[in-house]
Amino acid sequence: MSRNVTWDRGVSLPEHAIWFDPEVSRALAVVTHAHTDHARRHHETYLTAETLALTATTRKPKQARVVAFGAAQPVGHGELTLLPAGHMLGAAQALFDAGGARLLYTGDLKLRGPRAVELPKAQVLVIESTYGRPHFLFPDHSSVVESIAIWCKRAFAEGATPVLLCHAVGKAQEVMLALAQYGFKFALEHRCLPATSAYQELGETLPDYKELTPGEDYTERVVIAPPAGKTVIRKLHRYRTALVSGWAQDRHFRMLFGADTAFPLSDHCDFLELLDVVEAVAPEQVYTVHGFTEDLARNLRKRGIRASALKGVEQLALAFV
Ligand SMILES: [Zn+2]
Repeated sequence: MSRNVTWDRGVSLPEHAIWFDPEVSRALAVVTHAHTDHARRHHETYLTAETLALTATTRKPKQARVVAFGAAQPVGHGELTLLPAGHMLGAAQALFDAGGARLLYTGDLKLRGPRAVELPKAQVLVIESTYGRPHFLFPDHSSVVESIAIWCKRAFAEGATPVLLCHAVGKAQEVMLALAQYGFKFALEHRCLPATSAYQELGETLPDYKELTPGEDYTERVVIAPPAGKTVIRKLHRYRTALVSGWAQDRHFRMLFGADTAFPLSDHCDFLELLDVVEAVAPEQVYTVHGFTEDLARNLRKRGIRASALKGVEQLALAFV
């Protein structure tokens, strides 16, 4: 395989006419997971059954090629295999092998937490760099979950409703699963409901929940809602809010959402885990995509690894046109 990887509004292998998580509709694409910054409506799409179920109706592919983890598929002049990425239910990495030359595209990746992740060796690694700056270091997963549980119990004891602010798709459900061991019941803002039903239909056992009704008070249920647009939350009598996100490590971002507190429970790798991924995959060339691409690439180069931001390459190419 030639090492011809480009950024063409998505990671692209031009010789194989395939895109990974492209931002615009393409003939043939891999969609790694159901988040809206990754899922678009392409003509033909390789994805997991879970991702298909969790994808919003308007973004579902015209022709879905549902692939199980680990099953190699002939695509272009090579083979495509989806591997677990740990980011949310059904989230995949894409391994493309053309005659032994291998490229791994991580999509969004989470190493810590309950979902197992497999990191194969590959000559070319295209890695997400959402938290690609060294100050993003997340504490142990179970101790953060415990801190959230203690905070919720304290809110109840003070006669307030604990409100956890997190992404409606994937994150809300993963937080419910993580907190299930503490016996909480939940009230979900309406935007969290479709993915929650999909998780249940896909066989995940979630704790008791009901839809958050505006104006009703919750003295025994933890409320979960997306961070933006808290209209229904403001109708609660007494409440405390906590942002549940890796961005908790960033003071400015935390202030942006006006939460009372924040917990760094992330569905991505922190900075050191990104370095661990690079070490495990042992690539000859790394490309960074999403988030702090330049920062991560620069840090890898300092460690003697060939790395560049894939978007940066495109911008450089355009500068010569
Ligand atoms: Zn994502």
